[in-house]
Formats: sequence, C-alpha cells, structure tokens
Amino acid sequence: MRITALAGGVGGARFLRGLLAHLRADEDPARRDARVTVISNTADDITLHGLRVSPDLDSVMYTLGGGIDEGRGWGRSEETSGVADELAAYGQSPTWFTLGDKDLATHVVRSRLLAEGRTLSEATAVLCERWRPGVRLLPMTDDVVETHVDLAPVDPAAHHGEAGGRRVHFQEWWVRLHAAVPALAIEPVGAAQARPAPGVLEALREADVVLLPPSNPVVSIGTILSVPGVREVLLARSAPVVGVSPVIAGAPVRGMADACLSAIGVPTTAAAVAGLYEGLLDGWLVAEGDDVPARPGLTVRSRPLLMSDAPATAALAGAALDLALDLVRKDRAA
Ligand code: GDP
Ligand code: CA
Repeated sequence: MRITALAGGVGGARFLRGLLAHLRADEDPARRDARVTVISNTADDITLHGLRVSPDLDSVMYTLGGGIDEGRGWGRSEETSGVADELAAYGQSPTWFTLGDKDLATHVVRSRLLAEGRTLSEATAVLCERWRPGVRLLPMTDDVVETHVDLAPVDPAAHHGEAGGRRVHFQEWWVRLHAAVPALAIEPVGAAQARPAPGVLEALREADVVLLPPSNPVVSIGTILSVPGVREVLLARSAPVVGVSPVIAGAPVRGMADACLSAIGVPTTAAAVAGLYEGLLDGWLVAEGDDVPARPGLTVRSRPLLMSDAPATAALAGAALDLALDLVRKDRAA
C-alpha cells in the first residue's frame, strides 16, 4: 500500500508518528509494509543569519527520527543556545527566532548544500540519511516560496511597539508577534511560479490513499495545495483523500491557527475547514460533538481527535486509514 500525506510542522509530524506506529503494529501485511511519502510545507522557510531554515521539514524529520524536543514539539531535544547567545552579543537580529546549537548544525548542512548548487530535495535527502524518518520526505517544491502577512495597523502601545500596516514574513507574525496583530492577508509569495519538487505529483498520483493530517489549513496544507499541479492532481484522482480536522469544538487545539482562518474570513470550525478542502476531500474525521453537515461525496466520521499520547495518536491515524480503506471498498462495490 502506498500512502501519501501532506504535512506542516508539529500537528503533521505528531500525526505521522502515530501513523507509522499504527502501521508497524498492524497484523495485515498490506498495512504493516505500507510505504509512506510525506509532502512537506516549505513556505514557512526563512533565511536567518545567512542560513536557510526549514521549520516544517525539520519538525517531521526530528519527530520521526527521534530527535525532537517533546515538550515544545519542535527543535532538538537537550538543546543549548550558545551560538544564539553569541549572535545576540554581536547585536545580530533577529533574536526572536530560537535557533539552538544542535538545530543550527542542520541549517548549516542544508545551507552549505544549497550553496553548492544542490536542491532542497537533495539537501533533505542528505539530512534524512542521518535521521531515517521511515518515510520518504519531500519538500513541496525546490523553488523559494515564503508566506508573507499583511499586518493591520494597530496601536503600538498595545503591541510592544509594533504599529502594523506593513508586510512581514510569516515567522515574524507568528513567532515575534504571536499572531496578536490581526492579519489582513496571508500570501504564499512565489507559489504561483513554483514547480512541485521531483516525486511530489507522482506520489499523489500513485498513492492508494492520500491523508491530510491535522495541520494548519491555511499556512501548512493551504500552501502545499497552492503549488501548481498539486490541487489539480488531487481533484483528478480516484483514490480517497481523507483529512483529520485540526479544529476541535471551535478551537485549534494547540497554537494560533484561528488567527490564520480569521485572516482569510473562515470561521474556526471543523465544517468550515472541510469547506476549504471542497472537492478534494472524500473523508473527514471530526471530534465527537462537532457537527459537519453531510454533502454528496463526503463521508464524515467522529472520533477522539486529541493527540494526547502515543496510543491515542496511533488510534487516530488508524481511524483515518480505516475511513480511507472503507471508501476504497465502497468505491469498488459501486
Ligand atoms: P505547525 O507548522 O508547527 O504549526 O504545525 P501544523 O501546521 O502541522 O499543525 C498545527 C495544527 O495542528 C494546529 O493548528 C492545531 O489545529 C493542530 N493540532 C495540534 N494538536 C492537535 C491535536 O492533538 N489534535 C488535532 N486534531 N489537531 C491538533
Ligand atoms: Ca509550520
């Protein structure tokens, strides 16, 4: 069986770890030996201190490779900040983006490979030789795509001196401003001209099942879908696409995804997120108590959606896969 998943950072990585745990414990050899390809969002990527940082690729790589800081859900475990402290002593900005010493080594390797003319796909493959994440990890594109955010004008006194009314990199809005300054628009700059990375469209075309983990629907899944060809391939294919709602009872569980949804005028509900994936989605897992009106071609199932620990996360991934395989059977029977 071939499974292809789109993924952002923490939510995607945790779900994928549950998926692998579920698959490897399955008695059915087709599921146990399933091959998983992950298409990672790269629009959060940013150049800091001359280094290319790919937060979502790294979250998936570290989480699946056993190097993640479990508490934060991102960055390396047992991390130190010697280099960041020295950079701050030189007055080098930005200081708001945490770059640990171990994590920096990843960005040095990636940046060096890119400077030598290798693609992001190639650099990712080199980094994965160490981490062996157990999936084929592909960036959505080798071209530069960066999400930028138009900040609403705000009172600087209420926002630590930020007056808004300007355009910033997504990371500055998310990390420095904690998305507390309302966004007027969120744009994946460069996406319209980007080409899918090698293997991306094939992995979607050839998959038996496509999964959308509970990643941010705007700045993670949304940006992957904005790479030309990705949405078109998903619309044209017959294998099921099953998503897991990143919203439970009107809240994004962890993080500030509601700020992204507000910026594009979409309510923070499981039903509204399904609406964003209109036409793509065949199955949608929602939390118990979250009503999503049925519509033709969409099967909605409710399950516990909280990735609270490893067993709960594996069960959630198993439920997503079960729904997908039920849809395959239903399709065959029809
Ligand atoms: P990021 O790139 O690190 O922000 O991570 P993702 O885009 O992959 O995922 C972030 C989203 O995961 C958040 O917006 C939450 O809505 C969702 N999320 C986090 N934890 C859980 C959970 O336990 N269950 C569900 N269903 N969603 C979650
Ligand atoms: Ca991200």
